[in-house]
Amino acid sequence: MLPFTSIGEAEAALGRNLTAVEAVWFQYSSGMHDFCLYAHNIVFLLLVYSVAPLPVALAELKRPKAIHKYKLQPKVHVPVADVLKCYKNVVKTFLFAVGPLQLVSFPTIKWVGIRTGLPLPSVWEAAAQLAVYFVVEDYFNYWLHRALHSRWGYDHIHRVHHEFSAPVGFAAPYAHWAEVLILGFPAFLGPAIAPCHILVFWLWFVLRHVEAIETHCGYDFPQTPTKYIPFYGGAEYHDYHHYVGGRSHSNFASVFTYCDYIYGTDKGYRYQKGQLAKQLTEQEKAKNQNGETNGMWEKYD
Ligand SMILES: [Zn+2]
Ligand SMILES: [Zn+2]
Repeated sequence: MLPFTSIGEAEAALGRNLTAVEAVWFQYSSGMHDFCLYAHNIVFLLLVYSVAPLPVALAELKRPKAIHKYKLQPKVHVPVADVLKCYKNVVKTFLFAVGPLQLVSFPTIKWVGIRTGLPLPSVWEAAAQLAVYFVVEDYFNYWLHRALHSRWGYDHIHRVHHEFSAPVGFAAPYAHWAEVLILGFPAFLGPAIAPCHILVFWLWFVLRHVEAIETHCGYDFPQTPTKYIPFYGGAEYHDYHHYVGGRSHSNFASVFTYCDYIYGTDKGYRYQKGQLAKQLTEQEKAKNQNGETNGMWEKYD
């Protein structure tokens, strides 16, 4: 809760006028308990999960040629009933596993120093914190995800996430509740190492969520802005992990490609890509342009 009762008091404490964004934040959060602000996170997660995968999911219903040519596994069409079942399961996991965990973790969040007051962080400070969170999350997610591909981990937990061998956006957080909690841990690690303002904390979870939805969307759109991020994996990278499935020992990282490269777990993927580049004749290229592609991976069956 903000320790000021008026904007004037806040400005006197800061020794300057509030920025427009700070004034909006003051109006919104003054009088609101920090616990209530923290609880916003689960609402944002549910909202993003319900809205972000929709455009591609709706396009998938009609499958227009202009978009279909970017589909990574074009022969696979996930039935609407399966997507709805997936959505229901994920919402249940959010409400009965992620939500309670978020609420009981409130004291930890306070302890590590997630703040809600003024001043707000600068854009540069927020960007630096987000960059740290992505790198930290990616590294620890890599090892936990790799451990989930052990025989026990896969059979008891991770196989649920791999039920979609051709993923869709709604399947990004579709997993055993234990996996959601296990892989949620690296997401909290970054803010614990470099504590931030609650606004950056919200933004971090929203961005990570959107990123996961993009990498599971089943399409590799050439115009995606994330393609300009160095070492970014993207949809094609993670789609291969799902395509190979349970026997997959490739592409474990959640966001970037360098962990798999350094630890040698992208060899299968790079081999397939190399073979694909060799075999892609001019005729096949023309077929791809007409939307008649066999997909990225099918020719290796
Ligand atoms: Zn996996
Ligand atoms: Zn996945």
